[in-house]
Amino acid sequence: MTVIPVYNTLLVPDSFVYLKTDQYALLAGRQPEAEERVILLATREAQRRRDLTEESFYPVALSGRVAEVNENGFAVIRTGMRVNVDMLYVNIDHSIELTVSPRRDIEDLEREVEQEHAERLKEEILQTVQKYDWGRQVMLFIENLHTVSEMAAAVAVWSSMDAAERYAILEEDSKNARMAALEKMVYEFLTASRAANEAAGEQKKDYQKMYREQAIRRQMEVLQKELDEMHPENISDVRRFERKIEEAGMNETALAEARKVLNRLKQEQNGSMESGMLYDYLDFVTGLSWKKEEAQTIDLHEAEAVLDADHFGLEKIKKRILQQIAVMNLKRQQSGSILLFVGAPGTGKTSIGQSIATALHRPYVRVSLGGSRDEADIRGHRRTYVGAMPGRIMDGIRRSGASNPVMVLDEVDKLGVSYNGDPGSALLEVLDPEQNGTFTDHYMNVPYDLSDVLFICTANSVDTIPEPLLNRMEVIQFQGYTATDKFQIARRHLLPKSQTAMGIAPEALEVSDEAIRTIIADYTMEAGVRGLRKCMDTLCRAAAVEIADGAEKVEITPDNVKKYLDRKPMQHDHILTDPAPGIVTGLAWTRAGGDILYIETLLTRGSGKVTVTGQLGDVMKESVQIAVSLVKSMFPEEAEVLKENDLHIHVPAGAVPKDGPSAGITMTTALASLVTGRSVDPHTAMTGEVSLRGAVTPIGGLPEKLMAARRAGITRVFIPEKNMEDLDDIAPEVLEGLEIIPVREVREVLEKTGILAE
Ligand code: ADP
Repeated sequence: MTVIPVYNTLLVPDSFVYLKTDQYALLAGRQPEAEERVILLATREAQRRRDLTEESFYPVALSGRVAEVNENGFAVIRTGMRVNVDMLYVNIDHSIELTVSPRRDIEDLEREVEQEHAERLKEEILQTVQKYDWGRQVMLFIENLHTVSEMAAAVAVWSSMDAAERYAILEEDSKNARMAALEKMVYEFLTASRAANEAAGEQKKDYQKMYREQAIRRQMEVLQKELDEMHPENISDVRRFERKIEEAGMNETALAEARKVLNRLKQEQNGSMESGMLYDYLDFVTGLSWKKEEAQTIDLHEAEAVLDADHFGLEKIKKRILQQIAVMNLKRQQSGSILLFVGAPGTGKTSIGQSIATALHRPYVRVSLGGSRDEADIRGHRRTYVGAMPGRIMDGIRRSGASNPVMVLDEVDKLGVSYNGDPGSALLEVLDPEQNGTFTDHYMNVPYDLSDVLFICTANSVDTIPEPLLNRMEVIQFQGYTATDKFQIARRHLLPKSQTAMGIAPEALEVSDEAIRTIIADYTMEAGVRGLRKCMDTLCRAAAVEIADGAEKVEITPDNVKKYLDRKPMQHDHILTDPAPGIVTGLAWTRAGGDILYIETLLTRGSGKVTVTGQLGDVMKESVQIAVSLVKSMFPEEAEVLKENDLHIHVPAGAVPKDGPSAGITMTTALASLVTGRSVDPHTAMTGEVSLRGAVTPIGGLPEKLMAARRAGITRVFIPEKNMEDLDDIAPEVLEGLEIIPVREVREVLEKTGILAE
């Protein structure tokens, strides 16, 4: 809660305090926010915040909530219950920490009696108002005051009471005594203003009238909306919710539940924990959009233009997205198949989701699922749970403010499972068109229709996505960018964006083409463009500093890139310079795209044991066994060494586990190289699965692997013949300078690497 130290202010429970916004900011150390909960602390002296000490405060305070922050520069604080300040510290940074407990009233005042007093007092005020003709506005204002506390709060500004007397009212436990004091205050005001009115001359009277009217009018503006529907209890929130609930367009179940919760809120004492919970619930459900949006027909050309404007390349993906939009147009539906964008980080999966939303004229919302291990993350906690919250899906809907946003579910491959249930199966329900029309978040406890939400999921790799979930979605691969793509992306998108973000005028910064190419080649090593984007940001930041220092223009060339990036160029996966028997270059498919890896083998004196280390699932171990058997059968004599020696095979970590088997030919070649003592040129890389017959079978992730090979400076690659058709998808510049050799059998690899005579 925000602590607000106030001086000489009338603090009465279940009433109002109005503070000017700037005054509030000064006292609280922050700007007021609607619905913010506050503790109003009375101080003994008028002191600047930084001079306040533990001794500055009175021991009884008041809880409250900012009911409204209005454009006229007022924060209206609806006050709640009185609290005892049990402990209070003023920190070195002048922030105030305290613990409070409720302070009970002495209930010695009957409702009817209070009501009677209030009515009588009001009557008096109204008569005065009429008699001296303070105007209709004032009248209306008074009409809306219902309790003595409220009337006192309204006139407190004119009261002659000093700070200690005002505080005495707050500390007074007896409701009866408190009412008497407040009543006295109002009478004092009435007497004084009557006297003023009667005694003063004509001119002064006008002046008084004007002053009073203006002052009251100002407060009135602030309060009008709240006071409109005021009632003795915590009614303004209640009324507001009442209206919102009726207007929200909720389904029947939701409406019934909301009404039930509202009724409970009415019975709760303002400021209690329960009332906070009920309040939060109503705030959440009435904040959701329950209205069905009409399906719009989207102009395909326009959509295409939007997609093209935001993203370079990605032709196939954009085409697929346009197809989806066309189908949605035809069927007049707002959602369709669920797309799963798979690819390395920074390949544009999330950002294209945003473009889709723009193209569809629908709100965009991103929900991150990475690391979520609890079913409640998706589906929310039941409200009986302390600190219960809605799940991420409904929270996303709320943030989007609509019932049909484009929702990007990020990192669906990073969902975990724990004893708290399986978020994957909850997600299944979210994505299933048969079920998601009545998705029930545990917190909300009522169904919500998700069928108009356009879901897009993203993942780095599909192999950790549970099968049933994967079946629901249509996989779209983001391959990663070539150096040429990256250049265009940097030139057309990343650099201008960073430049604008840092406020650098176009003519003030010139980055040469060669500089961009240098950055791509020497400072980034990635399939996507995240690192590249960071580099552009760094460049612009450094340039901005120089420009601020008076430089007219900053030119960035390959020679000064290092200075501006303030970083050493990256060490490329350097290719081994000395070929050694038993070490062979392989290609792996990693979460970041592709990479080269070395499979290393070594013989040590022993008795024919095989040790494998590194990243090895069971599949990989099988590949090792196949490789050993193959080499034994192909090189019966040389393989004799395996009997009197131990064999150690090491496969470095990094690849996605499922890609393990595609190291099959690499492993076999490494072993063959080891036993024959013939080394393989490290500029030669290979990928392919191998069967016990020695047949090479196809693998996945070829584009990423070839790009990695190209980056690392490999010149020759063996690939399974069956993968040749994948080459159509690969940019010509990746293939340029790479000799691709399709193979059907592992024997061909051994021949072409010189291990086996052709
Ligand atoms: P992902 O979700 O795949 O990890 P992001 O969508 O976060 O990647 O993209 C990272 C950054 O790169 C974003 O700023 C995005 O705008 C930019 N970007 C990625 N691909 C392209 C592209 N083809 N054209 C323009 N900008 C791109």
